[in-house]
Amino acid sequence: MTKPFPCTQCGLCCQHVHLSNETHFLDRGDGICKHYDMASKACSIYTERPDICRVDRMYSLRYVQQHTWDEFVTMNLKVCTQLGSGSPR
Ligand code: SF4
Ligand code: SF4
Repeated sequence: MTKPFPCTQCGLCCQHVHLSNETHFLDRGDGICKHYDMASKACSIYTERPDICRVDRMYSLRYVQQHTWDEFVTMNLKVCTQLGSGSPR
């Protein structure tokens, strides 16, 4: 891995956990993660957050055989962009 995932910490993924079967269990009922702190716009369990919320860990666990890190970053950034454009909801 050559560079960290360029997360802007916009929080949009944490506010759309209902969109993926893998994060659905985090939904507090309106699509927002039950661990997302709206006031500080941060994860309230950041150091204990599940693997699915850790891009680098998910890469190591599931995608390292099929994709380079740069490819995986690009795939994930596409989702970030879709969330930012408001198209998924
Ligand atoms: S949507 Fe993307 S850029 Fe925004 S917090 Fe999530 S991972 Fe980071
Ligand atoms: S556990 Fe934390 S990082 Fe994961 S979706 Fe919820 S608020 Fe975001």
